[in-house]
Amino acid sequence: MKGLRFVIQKHAARQLHYDFRLELEGALRSWAVPKGPSLDPRHKRLAIEVEDHSLSYGDFEGLIAEGEYGAGEVIVWDAGTYLPDGAEEGTRRREQERLAAAGLAAGRITFRLFGHKLQGGWTLLRLPNRPGQWLLMKQADSYADARRNILLEDRSVLTGRTVENVRKRAE
Ligand code: MN
Repeated sequence: MKGLRFVIQKHAARQLHYDFRLELEGALRSWAVPKGPSLDPRHKRLAIEVEDHSLSYGDFEGLIAEGEYGAGEVIVWDAGTYLPDGAEEGTRRREQERLAAAGLAAGRITFRLFGHKLQGGWTLLRLPNRPGQWLLMKQADSYADARRNILLEDRSVLTGRTVENVRKRAE
């Protein structure tokens, strides 16, 4: 798969959330989205910046043991590539990363997702005076759909498992 990766891991920790991750400069920039992404452009989903993760963590599914940080089940809810606005598929990877880094530093990045579940234009916007807090929003395009709850598609795009499947397996 060409291009910069994105991954969303559904994480049934003490508080269920979706970890939204964008590849940049050899790591996965990460945000925890408590309510998960929405295809409805009117929904502004809080996205809390968390520490970078390694690229290899983006393939992780399984159980984080009780007592460890983030204890609970993890599945790869969606995965694919992203293109920051200003880049096309033929744009050199270095230039794609430069555009993405500039957007993140400015607190506003718009990009296209090429995932199994999420597609089209999205925006991450940093809230002023609220350190580490961003909003994740679908742009109004042909992939927007206010009537469809994408979170009901609850299976891993890697293995077809749900977090409940992972839990049962571990019991
Ligand atoms: Mn998490």
